[in-house]
Amino acid sequence: MRITAIELKNFRNYEHLEQDFFPGAQILYGNNAQGKTNILEAIFLCTCARSHRTGRDSELVRQGCDDYDVRLEFLTDKDRSEEIRIHYLAPVSNDPLRLKPIRHIYYNGVRLERISDMMGIFNAVIFAPEDLQIIKDGPAARRRFLDLLLSQIYPAYFRDLIQYQHLLTQRNNLLKKLRDLPYIADSDSDYNLHLEIWDEQLSNCSARIISRRQEVINEIALLANESISQITGLKEELSMRYRSSVPSAKDLNREEMREILLGKLREQAADDILRGSTGLGPHRDDLILSLNGIEVRPYASQGQQRSVVLALKLAELLLLRQKTGESPVLLLDDVMSELDGDRRYRLLQTIEDHQSFLTCTDLSQVLIGCNDRNLADFIEEYTLFNVHQAKLTQVIL
Ligand code: ATP
Ligand code: MG
Repeated sequence: MRITAIELKNFRNYEHLEQDFFPGAQILYGNNAQGKTNILEAIFLCTCARSHRTGRDSELVRQGCDDYDVRLEFLTDKDRSEEIRIHYLAPVSNDPLRLKPIRHIYYNGVRLERISDMMGIFNAVIFAPEDLQIIKDGPAARRRFLDLLLSQIYPAYFRDLIQYQHLLTQRNNLLKKLRDLPYIADSDSDYNLHLEIWDEQLSNCSARIISRRQEVINEIALLANESISQITGLKEELSMRYRSSVPSAKDLNREEMREILLGKLREQAADDILRGSTGLGPHRDDLILSLNGIEVRPYASQGQQRSVVLALKLAELLLLRQKTGESPVLLLDDVMSELDGDRRYRLLQTIEDHQSFLTCTDLSQVLIGCNDRNLADFIEEYTLFNVHQAKLTQVIL
């Protein structure tokens, strides 16, 4: 798929922007703080209604305003013209109808009831400086990477995640009750019966989530390995392992996983009650990444960490295309400045079949420096835009 036009109203530093985009690479260049990343952020928002930089929608609203509107027109690879629009209204304290934030999402003009209905409609993969968190931060960042990818491929997976979160909250509330009011636990077996019901449902949902994650990790590992040697030109061996609350989950089918999870939830119920929270399940699992047999997080160099994340993102791009039959849009925020000439050249070669948006402060980072070749030598189609104080100007060299 490829974006044909974007419209922003009161989004970040944009008061109103209407801009057409073209096939191939869209290069957004300009000084710091002009609005380059904000464009990528608005595009990414249209995949899952969540910014890659913040979970707080209110930050996205232009200062002094109380709503934002992002509209994306795109053309699918099957040549269908489609549109996604997100309209967010921040809470307004003196308006009784707007005490809570409101978010309306429209697909081809029709309002969607749930965010889950939006997953998989418009797909983009972003690689931004924040993505190093996938390696540097705790397990939650790695789970988020997996969850977003899986949600774009399988909307049912996203619904499972929401259901899981709901069940987990219910079970944790009950655990706290059993902890704080122990006489109820003894005198009223209804509470224990409830716990058993939550355990049943939770283990069912957990098994579905874990088996999907397990399955996709094997596929990403293959593709990421190809990508990393393509970008670095070296034979680095990237491997991935899912560290699960179910031991040796990779050798089990979903039913076996469910039974083990259920057994473990029951086994650990007393500990969970003491803690007032559930100690095992997909919300505690992790993805372990190793380069040449050594775990990336504590040991890899900055450059290696960056290559690993880039490889993960390219694997995500390829996997999305394999599974959905549509080429996702690629968003590369300030990536070129981090790579040496050879790596830039290889990266641009790898992504040439996709529409991509690249930001940079210095055009020479993209135009030259790739073994002294001009951009036109290896990218057939590209368009240059200068970004200055929230205005885009197309530039022809
Ligand atoms: P850099 O090269 O430093 O990455 P950039 O062009 O990518 O710069 P952006 O991150 O897109 O810059 O941000 C541009 C400007 O948007 C910043 O000056 C920032 O202060 C402003 N900005 C961010 N959020 C809002 C908001 N809610 N309302 C108004 N302006 C905002
Ligand atoms: Mg930026």
